[in-house]
Amino acid sequence: MISGLWNKVRLVCGNHHDEPQNLIVLQTDKDAFYVCPKYNPLNRTESDRVCMNRISVQETEKILNILSDKIIEAEDQGQSLNLTHYRFETRVGRYQVLRHTPDELVISAYNKKLDFHPAG
Ligand SMILES: [Zn+2]
Repeated sequence: MISGLWNKVRLVCGNHHDEPQNLIVLQTDKDAFYVCPKYNPLNRTESDRVCMNRISVQETEKILNILSDKIIEAEDQGQSLNLTHYRFETRVGRYQVLRHTPDELVISAYNKKLDFHPAG
């Protein structure tokens, strides 16, 4: 893992919002997740539908390792890799890098379980 990578990462909800929604940490008794703010009624307007999109912190670490490995592999070959627009999937989710700059790595995250349980 590239040191300091976590500090640059911003996760946004990949479940179709007009405005990008930054995922927020939800701590439960057993686990921690990144959840869409639109899960919470307090963050919804009347026209907003509930959004059940969530990614476990464990899964997030996995995807950062995937991206980190790609960046390091390129650096080893003397290349600077820009991952903007890069799409990839894991067993759990679908991801797209929306923006990759020296200061920021913005990743759209979508939990594939939502395909079977549409929100709303
Ligand atoms: Zn959402």
